[in-house]
Order: sequence, then C-alpha cells, then structure tokens
Amino acid sequence: MRTLLLNPGPVSLSARVRRAMLGPDLCHREPEFAQLQAEIRRNLLGVYALDEVSWAAILLTGSGTAAVEAMLTSLVPSDGHVLVVENGVYGERMTKILQRYGIAHTRIEHSWLEALDRSAIEEQLANLPNISHVAVVHHETTSGRLNDLADLAALCGRYDAELLLDAVSSFGAEDIDFVELPIAACAATANKCLHGVPGTCFVIASRAALTGSRGSARSVYLDLHGYVEQQDRFGTPFTQSVQTFYALAEALDELNDEGGRRVRQQRYLDRMNRVRTHLIALGVKPLLPDGASSCVLHAFYLPTGLNYATLHDGLKARGFVIYAGQSNLAQQIFRISMMGDLVDADVARLCAAFNEVIAAA
Ligand SMILES: *Cc1c(COP(=O)(O)O)cnc(C)c1O
Repeated sequence: MRTLLLNPGPVSLSARVRRAMLGPDLCHREPEFAQLQAEIRRNLLGVYALDEVSWAAILLTGSGTAAVEAMLTSLVPSDGHVLVVENGVYGERMTKILQRYGIAHTRIEHSWLEALDRSAIEEQLANLPNISHVAVVHHETTSGRLNDLADLAALCGRYDAELLLDAVSSFGAEDIDFVELPIAACAATANKCLHGVPGTCFVIASRAALTGSRGSARSVYLDLHGYVEQQDRFGTPFTQSVQTFYALAEALDELNDEGGRRVRQQRYLDRMNRVRTHLIALGVKPLLPDGASSCVLHAFYLPTGLNYATLHDGLKARGFVIYAGQSNLAQQIFRISMMGDLVDADVARLCAAFNEVIAAA
C-alpha cells in the first residue's frame, strides 16, 4: 500500500511527475535547459493568467523559504520600510529574515489563532508614514487560516504601500487577485499546491517592483534582479536543480490537463469539507471557525484521550501521514492537507481510518 502524505508539502507525487524526473541529463548552459526554464516561467504566469509584460516568474533552487528570503531581501529599496503582519510561524519567519539582513521593519503581532486586526494595521500605517511594503502570509499554514487580502489591500491602497506575499502554501489553488491587489511580489514553491517536488521555488514579481528596487539585493545567491536579468535572456546565474525543473514542468502540464487552478481549488475544497464534516461527526473540534480556513489545510484539536503520536502512528499504519502542530500547539492540534495526488476514494479510506483509530483510543 502506498503511504499518502497529508502534511503541507512535500506532497504525494503522481506517476507522471515522478517519471518526468528521469528525463535526459541536461547542462544548464545548453538550449534544452533554456527551453525548459522558459516553459516553466510562462506556465507559472499562466496559472493566474498573468501577462509577461507586467509580471516575471523567477525560478530559484531551494525550498519555499529561499523564495521568501529572496523576495524580502531583493525588492525593498534601501529607504524602504516593511510592515510585517504576523499570525503564525511563517509571518514570524519573515520578521526573522528582515532582522537578520538589517532591513527596516515594524511587526504587528497577533496570536496564532487570530484573524488580522484591521484597525491595528491601519493604526501602524497611519503612524508610520514611510511604510513601503506590507509583508503577509496568504495561507498561514500554522493554523490553516486564509488571511483576508482584500481587506489589507484596501489599507495598502490608502497608505501607498505594496504587498509582499508569502503565498507558498496557497499559490496554485487559492484565489490571488493580481489585478486588484497591490502586489509587488509573491513567493511560492513547486512542492505544495502545484504538486511538484521540493527543490524548486519561485517568486512572481511585478516588473514595476523589480525596476523600482534595482540594486537593492542584500544577498548574492538570492538576488532576484540577477536571476531575472539572466532568465529573461534564457540563462541562469547559478546551476539549477534540473530534475526538479522537469518535475515542475510536468506538474504544471498536469494542472492544466486537470482543468486549471479553479478545478484544483474546488477539489481541495470538496475533499477538505468532507474530512471536516466527518471529523466533526466523530466529535473532533476544528481549530478555526467555519469559513476561516484555506481549502488547502485544516487544523483540528486532538480528540480527547488521544495524543498526537498515537493518532499519527495509527493513521500511518493505515497509509496516511498527518502533521503535528508547531510549538505550543504541538500538544493540542493536528493538521491535514488535501494537496498532492489524491483521489476521492483516498478521502473515504482516510475517514474510515479515523473511525478505527479514534474507536481504539
Ligand atoms: C511551507 C511554507 C513555507 C516554506 O517552507 P520550506 O520548508 O522552506 O519549504 C513558507 N511559508 C508557508 C506559509 C509555508 O506553508
């Protein structure tokens, strides 16, 4: 029996994505690689129907955090100031990155269970007139919360700030309104909602934001300006992970063949709701109220009398890997994601596995 990964990345691979990695050896200075890279860049923009004049997809070798770090350290001009909105591990990580590089920032902390506090954010924007960017996590994987970007965008518009988005666990499934939202850039990865393998990550940046921040990269390796300059000329500044590029190219074709992002979003939503309804009927309580979570991942309180290890091991013995909570939530919750190569029958088997493990507790 195949073990299915229900953790928030890496995901269970389809056979075609796995097979794609066995493609021919490629030198990253040969035209075959240039073609592969150009195709991926085009298809990444295609996921949200973005035009190549206004936007650039920039490919990096690394996990999702590399894309977030590249975005934060390349796109904030030296006189910029970032307002970081934190309500989970990944928001806090953005602050850590800005701290480490000495980039001017102010943080707005929330508890991990809170929605964004509009009035607190507005107060900061009003008090700090030099805020150039608001950095926020779209889907805060810590709790499963989908942060409300439209609300934030309205504030950014009023105070002339642009969004730097960690969309690592939402890109490819959730709605991201690149037309209406003042997005300077978003960071994402191959191995979450796009169903590729870990090793390739990317930033989708507006061309205007790239132009406006030219020369402000603080890192040599994570310099988005260097990458985009070379990738626009079909090159690459450094060796890329060729096999994970193959996988991403195939995963993007697969997404198109399945009907695109909206179809994937609906599938996640249907399956997630099915699991949620089933668990609630078993007496398991969701961490967040109805409507607050992404379609990608939901968090639940551990059933009474069942610790995480017992639940995890019971489900793993039945072919499913779930995910623990982080830090102070580790003893309280578990998380389930619907990303990756799953079918409806897998969800039915998962529900049956929960019945057995909870009944045995
Ligand atoms: C997964 C994830 C990341 C990146 O994590 P990596 O381990 O570096 O891939 C960043 N932000 C969010 C919201 C995530 O879910």
